[in-house]
Order: sequence, then C-alpha cells, then structure tokens
Amino acid sequence: MKYISTRNKDIRVSSAQAISQGISKDGGLFVPEEIPTLSTADFDYLKNVDYIERAAFVLKKYLTDFTEEEIYACVRGAYTGSFDNEIPAPIVKTKNGVNILELWHGPTCAFKDLALQLLPYLLTTSAKKVSGGKEIVILVATSGDTGKAALEGFCDVENTKIIVFYPSDGVSAMQKLQMDTQKGENVCVCAINGNFDDAQTGVKNIFTNNDTAKILENNNMQFSSANSINWGRLVPQIVYYVSAYCDLLANGEDLSNGFNVVVPTGNFGNILAAYYAKMMGVPVNKLICASNANNVLTDFINTGVYDRNRKFFTTISPSMDILISSNLERMLFELCGRDDKLVANLQSELSKNGKYKVNDEIHEKFVGLFFGGCCDDSATKETIGKYFANQGYLSDTHTAVALNVYDKYVESTGDTRTTVVASTASPYKFAASVLEALGEDLAGSEFETVKKLSLKTATEIPAPLAALENAVPRFKNLVEKQDMTAFVLKTLGI
Ligand SMILES: *Cc1c(COP(=O)(O)O)cnc(C)c1O
Repeated sequence: MKYISTRNKDIRVSSAQAISQGISKDGGLFVPEEIPTLSTADFDYLKNVDYIERAAFVLKKYLTDFTEEEIYACVRGAYTGSFDNEIPAPIVKTKNGVNILELWHGPTCAFKDLALQLLPYLLTTSAKKVSGGKEIVILVATSGDTGKAALEGFCDVENTKIIVFYPSDGVSAMQKLQMDTQKGENVCVCAINGNFDDAQTGVKNIFTNNDTAKILENNNMQFSSANSINWGRLVPQIVYYVSAYCDLLANGEDLSNGFNVVVPTGNFGNILAAYYAKMMGVPVNKLICASNANNVLTDFINTGVYDRNRKFFTTISPSMDILISSNLERMLFELCGRDDKLVANLQSELSKNGKYKVNDEIHEKFVGLFFGGCCDDSATKETIGKYFANQGYLSDTHTAVALNVYDKYVESTGDTRTTVVASTASPYKFAASVLEALGEDLAGSEFETVKKLSLKTATEIPAPLAALENAVPRFKNLVEKQDMTAFVLKTLGI
C-alpha cells in the first residue's frame, strides 16, 4: 500500500515515509492509494477480540511495510496500561438509547490520546525504516489539549525527545498544570511570551530553517511533527470506529439500517476517520458534523462554499475553535474523484482568498454523506443540563455540541436509527463550564470546582486529573518568541 499526495498523485511513498515526513513536499496531505476493505468474516472475527487485536488488524491493512511483529509492538505499547480498565474506547448508553463512544479514558482525558499514544511508536518504527534511526525531536505548539496528549504519548519513548511550547496566557489553569507537571526524561515544556499564533509561527520557523536542520543532522537528530494532518494520527482513529461497530454487533444492536455517527468537529480529523471506516465496510449511514459558533463547516456542508473570512469566536469548547479544518482537504480529494489538480487549485484559493466554492456535483456528494449543524455556548450549556437531567449522561462542552446537533438532526429528519456519538473529553477537563451549565455557582480554585462537580453529579474525578492537585510544577521556562530556536538547541544540548 502506497500513499499519495492530495495535490499530486505522482508523489507516491510508503507508509513509513508518509508518517515520518508528516506532510507531502508539495503541501498536500498523504492518503492511502486505495482504501482497504473488511469482509463480514473479518467483522465476525473482530467482534470477539480485544482492542489491541482490532487495532493490529486494521493497521496491518494500511501499514503494509511494517512487519506483523512491529505492528503488535506498536499497538501493545500504546494501549497497554494507559487506559482505564484497559478499554480505550468503551460505549455507554444514554437513557434514550444513544450510544456514546467515550474516547477520553486515556492519560490526558481527551480523545487525542487514542492517536497520540500510538503515534510515537509508529513514528519511531517508521524513522528506523526510512532514516536509519536518527533521534526524533518532536516540536509542538499547543493551545492546550494536543500538547499534553503529545507529552504523555512521547514520555520516555526511546530515541525521541519532545519540546512543547504554549502561549503563557493562552491555556487554561488545568491545562497549564497538566503540562508543567509532566514526567519523563525526554520531555520539556516552555511557555512563550505571546499568543498561540506566535508559538505556532515560531515552531514552523524552526522546522523550516536549514541551518537548524543541519545542526540536528550533525548530531544524528531530526525534527518531526505530531500534528493532526500526520497519517499516523488518522489511522488510530479509524480503529475506534471499527471497534465501535464490533461492539454494537456484539451488543446485538439493531444495525439493519446501519448507524449514524455524530462527531464534535474542529480540524475534521475525527469525522474523517469515521468516513474511512465507512469506506472500509463499517455500515455508517449519516456522518453528522457538529460545530460550535465557529460554524465554517456547517455553512460549507449547507452551501458548498468554504469561507474562513468571518469572526473568530472563543468558546467554551475551545478545541473546536478552528476556522481552517486542515483534514477537509482529504475529504475533498475523495469526493472530487481524487482529482489532485482540482484539490491543489481549491487549496491555493483558500490560502489566497480565504475561501473556495465546490461545484454542484461535489456539493451533492457532501450533502449525501454529511449533515452539518452548529450551536453556540448558551445552547451547549443548555444541552449539558438537559442530558444530565433527562438522559442520565454528563457530557463535557465539546460532546454537548454533538448532542445538541444530533437532537436537531432527529428533529429535522425523523431518523431515529442506531446512533453513535463521539464523546471527546472528560467533563472534568472543562469543569467550570459544566458546573455552570448545571446551574451551580463557581467555587474558588480549579480543584474546588472539580470537587463540587463530583459531589453534584455523583461521578468520579478521573485519576490523572485528581493527581494534579498536589503535583509540583517541574517546568517554569518562559522565553520570548524570538528566542525559541536558542531554547531548543540548549535543551537538546547541541
Ligand atoms: C481536538 C478536539 C476536537 C476536534 O477534533 P478534530 O479531529 O480536530 O475535528 C473535539 N473535541 C475535543 C475535546 C478535542 O480535543
């Protein structure tokens, strides 16, 4: 199985190359040359085995240049000992029968763990194949969730180092604490004096500076990226949709008309994985794409026009505050009949004018596959309250956006078939907003809020978050944005 660029199909690489490179040289994203399929017999087998076996089975179809041994080493490393009860993606049911796929039982209590626990193994295995085992230096600019999930994923993984930059005033108290207390010999965390864009620009500049790359090369090191356009982050996400289907089968759910999938969406990675699962043979009916007030995707699905020229909202579901959904490029590629020239043109329009329009034929395909909806912060809070009171389900702010849009979908279509809602974060990660949504006044500190939420809802505080109360910050670095390169080199001791 080879991987091709969405902007030039003549660029054709192995999966190890695609993963270690991250993005194609022409700026396009790597996609599998063809999407492998699973048979009824495959699903019959998969429904009776555990998550690690399911993951290995799916990975084998995509990473054909990995040996079976390598694949098992990767998935065992990722999913053993790091998720509650050794079940990375459990399904729980609301009172009205909606299946909630909880993707936040990993070390950082958000769904990014599913991919970022596995990526370090995929990356180091890939690097061994394509670049002779140089030490990998991961640089991350984060506005919160990704940084911590990457730190946990790469913590003490052999032959890697990771440095995370975050804007000093741009992350929540809990997120800052999560990062500054990170354990591991190969990790480093640094605040920068600036906003998220400054951090991201700084990291991009380091990545593209040839002099810095030379210095690393002379020391047998190379930079790599853990961001969500890397194929190595998408493939683990396909696994949990396959796994969810197997669980629905094993639970005897009514699947005669397939099932709908609802995803709270930002960069379009999670919902794209559900699409790939559908193409593999998982009987997904509608892909329901839920956005917050940053509803650029809702408008795109409804009109065929993608337009990022609009007001940016800072919401209570911050991981979905995105105006450029990078992974949409892969979806466009599929729905325009894999026309690389067309994708290259649309993406160049997007970078020049901040917008593009797809033709009617492509738009119709989007409408056939997707339902797009959105809701603002007050509707999000209302949904949290309603689902807790009526359905016995406590959701975080991101998942609540999905639940809200799902209700709208049922109302407008009358389609009540079996449905899976991706739940992307623990409510305790956004405790203040959740507590407010339940009509409580906010207590003083972050941990007082967390405890109050636990008392109010009779739910347990996830252990990784509870442990932070008495954790002592290890990292107190703060640098100016122009000093990031020097900080990286000093940290690497070169
Ligand atoms: C990253 C994130 C999302 C958005 O996922 P995409 O794959 O970028 O669409 C949604 N919810 C939470 C909690 C996240 O951390």
